[in-house]
Amino acid sequence: MTIGVPNHIVRGFIRNRHEAQIFQAAQTIDPTVKEVKYEVMGSLSDQDHPNKIDLKQFNGQESPKMRKVPNKQEVIVDGVRSKMFNPRYTLDNFIPGQENQLAMAACKAVAAKPGNIYNPLFLYGNVGLGKTHLLQGVGLEVLKNYPKKKVIYMTSERFMNEIIAAIGKKSTSSFKEKYRNIDCLIVDDVQFFGNKSSTQQEFFHTFNELYDADKQIILSSDRPPSELDLLEDRLVSRFGMGMVVEVLLPDFETRMAILNSKCLECQVMVDREVLEFIAYNVRHSVRELEGILVKAVGQAQLMQTTPTIKSVADALRQLNRDSDLQGIALDSEKRMVARNSDDVIDLVAQYFKMTRSDLTGENRKKEVMIPRQICMYLIRQALDHSYETIGESFGGRNHTTVLHACNKIIAQMKNDNRIMRDVNALKREIGV
Ligand code: ADP
Ligand code: MG
Repeated sequence: MTIGVPNHIVRGFIRNRHEAQIFQAAQTIDPTVKEVKYEVMGSLSDQDHPNKIDLKQFNGQESPKMRKVPNKQEVIVDGVRSKMFNPRYTLDNFIPGQENQLAMAACKAVAAKPGNIYNPLFLYGNVGLGKTHLLQGVGLEVLKNYPKKKVIYMTSERFMNEIIAAIGKKSTSSFKEKYRNIDCLIVDDVQFFGNKSSTQQEFFHTFNELYDADKQIILSSDRPPSELDLLEDRLVSRFGMGMVVEVLLPDFETRMAILNSKCLECQVMVDREVLEFIAYNVRHSVRELEGILVKAVGQAQLMQTTPTIKSVADALRQLNRDSDLQGIALDSEKRMVARNSDDVIDLVAQYFKMTRSDLTGENRKKEVMIPRQICMYLIRQALDHSYETIGESFGGRNHTTVLHACNKIIAQMKNDNRIMRDVNALKREIGV
């Protein structure tokens, strides 16, 4: 049996104090258990980790086996069920960058004067960009500013289930009454109301009731109201009445800032080059950005090292099975040491998320040309190969092409920070 623990301290603590009891307990439940191992998994520190178990829940009389672990904690506010706010999802913890200044400003304005300015506030954007974080952040901030206000956060699914239950009990008439006393209603992912006509009908009434009483409504969706095709028009037009803001993907600098703040939060040190590698390669979602960092840190902690570009690349590869990242050679310290030009080409390809043949091929697009030139320059620097030999590694290119590439990179590093950072990160990883 293997038990995951968040860090070495916890592992030491359990080993010293509880190892025998845990082994006994495990054998009572399953006599075939021969040994209990403790594995450090940094990712268990993550609030939402599916395998995480809160020990506080086991303080009662019931045996752990009998007790069902609720995975989403709820509270009841004035007869209405609300999901508990995640204390990490505050507006202060949200790094808006350039892209999400507007979303942030709207959230702050709503939190300062709920029901007053933007009603409803409607945030939309792709998955993993921080909508839930912002929604909960506003909720928490409203509570901070107005501790007496009743703030409800729920997913659209939860709302739907409540309605289905109410219909089952033939008690829908009381539905909007139930929400009447709520001051701020937050419903996440309303796109899931699509095609659910009785849900939409109830929501419409609840919405109007609250709206007419100047209560704040905050909604999120994966697309703007105008594209919510499966929703009734009257609901869509309500959604668009207040402030509609898109939540956008943060740019490279903001992604770096998010990673840095995550490292601070988790109290881990990660090389800047490694963070840059993550920020550079993960460009679709902040959730994925965090996920990769947590995974790489967790794995590194297991090996009692810090994450390297190689370990991050591994984590990325596990995430996108079809990814074109490629394997690279490692030395005993889990750090790449380039022994030949193939190693360097692999590493550069991996860094820029392209294939070897992209790098060595004929494509003259800028996105490929610059990495190719960087690669030539690095081989020259790391291995001191002749321009001729390097040319051969790149499909028999002429030595003057290689010379030109090297000079160009040297010149560009002086005025292009991006290139300088890439080259430095790669040099470090190669061991130049
Ligand atoms: P969505 O609801 O849009 O799918 P989430 O709100 O669940 O996305 O965000 C995914 C993860 O990314 C969360 O852990 C959240 O804290 C984090 N996150 C997203 N954007 C930011 C940001 N700008 N600053 C800090 N953390 C962020
Ligand atoms: Mg969400």
